[in-house]
Amino acid sequence: MSGLVHDVVVVGGGLTGLATAWRVRRSGRSVVLLEAGPRVGGVVRTERVGGYRVERAAGTFPSSAAALMELHASLPAPPAIRTPDPATNGQFLWTGRGLVALPRNPPALFKSPLLTFGQKVRMIAEVTRGPRRVRTPESAHAFVRRRFGRAVADNLLRPMTLGIYGTPPEQIGMADAFPSIPEMERTAGSLLKGMGKRKGATKRAILVFEDGMEAFPRAIGDALGDALRLSSPVAALTPEGDVVRVTTEGGASYAARRVVLATTAADQARLVAPCSGVAAGILGAVRTVPMMVVAVGLPPGGSPPIPPAFGFLRGTGAKGRILGALFHSHFNPAVAPPGHALLNVFVGGGADPDAMALTDDEVRALVERDLATALGGPVRPDVVSVYRWAKAIPILAPGHRTRMAEAQGLLPPWLVLSGSHVTGVGVHACAAATA
Ligand SMILES: Cc1cc2nc3c(=O)[nH]c(=O)nc-3n(C[C@H](O)[C@H](O)[C@H](O)COP(=O)(O)OP(=O)(O)OC[C@H]3O[C@@H](n4cnc5c(N)ncnc54)[C@H](O)[C@@H]3O)c2cc1C
Repeated sequence: MSGLVHDVVVVGGGLTGLATAWRVRRSGRSVVLLEAGPRVGGVVRTERVGGYRVERAAGTFPSSAAALMELHASLPAPPAIRTPDPATNGQFLWTGRGLVALPRNPPALFKSPLLTFGQKVRMIAEVTRGPRRVRTPESAHAFVRRRFGRAVADNLLRPMTLGIYGTPPEQIGMADAFPSIPEMERTAGSLLKGMGKRKGATKRAILVFEDGMEAFPRAIGDALGDALRLSSPVAALTPEGDVVRVTTEGGASYAARRVVLATTAADQARLVAPCSGVAAGILGAVRTVPMMVVAVGLPPGGSPPIPPAFGFLRGTGAKGRILGALFHSHFNPAVAPPGHALLNVFVGGGADPDAMALTDDEVRALVERDLATALGGPVRPDVVSVYRWAKAIPILAPGHRTRMAEAQGLLPPWLVLSGSHVTGVGVHACAAATA
């Protein structure tokens, strides 16, 4: 080990680790980022397939992502951000009656055909319901059912958590995945009242990176320069006096005052086990959902038009298996050859784990069948590219945050847990990470 002691060693070069290392560097402290693989970005991957540029995981972020924007602005060579046509900000629900616009605010919801008159009355009554007094963990489904009624939880929330997190709302903790919502209940007394006070909230736009999502982690990696060490899988953390030695599988070692683990919970469980078996057990128990992301390229003329929107989620009444689709070429036409469309379709998730056993041909057949039903006519793709994530997204189950805090509390002060299971799974939450 050299005599040099770094203020911080960050383990994991996904968005969380990169954001952390860059903030440490900017605060004037010395940092090294060790990434196991030969590239940065973790699950964020932008790839060329046929004439299309496809996103294998996250491809968009919200304009409200203040910490991401601040980090982006601080880069020496920030990648260009594109603001898509505002018409593409809306989303559809695929119902038994086809695609129906998803309401974007309470007044639109009251006009929507997605709820009956009785269900809307039940919903409005939310303003009269006081906050819950008991503080035991509550699932997202139980929270929404309690405040707005079962129809809202089943018909609107379920498609959203399945389509976005791949997880049924009964398995997601409300305060764990959406902490600002129970907070609004607590402070405003009612979500409808709270939303009414949040001026401009419905103006939130979807943004993309002009050259694809991976341009962002790559730019942070470039900014880090030689503080970034690729192909450096960390094998062990060994305290030595008042520093810790971080050793890679290749035998390189780095001394640090603080180590931030920005890997998945399962990877962290292995590294923290010598420090605390109980913390390792808590991290090892974090479950993930499997998911397939299927890029579908549509040449001009052969398929129904893609409606101007962000995409659609599969509602409970729709007869199909896909979880939903994003209309990527609406955000940035450059992702497809001129006149072509590019969609990302999601299949699998926690409610349909058997989908992972389907062959690519079977996935292609079901995606074409469901898109044809949802869009109202046969689709004739020239590219269908299936990408399989065995462990796509961590499940932030009820009580998850408390368990993560418990695991952190069992570890020595120099060892910090981070990663999407700690920060929250959205790229905006990962990009807010710091040390
Ligand atoms: C299919 C899919 C779709 C998604 N869609 C969206 C979306 O539309 N919008 C959105 O906001 N978010 C989305 N997300 C979520 C978001 O992309 C992720 O939560 C986020 O990118 C995770 O970043 P991370 O750095 O925490 O973890 P990761 O990206 O998993 O990075 C962890 C890194 O740690 C490295 N590592 C592991 N072990 C070691 C070790 N021992 N030593 C060194 N390095 C190690 C790994 O190689 C990896 O690079 C999606 C995710 C998936 C999978």
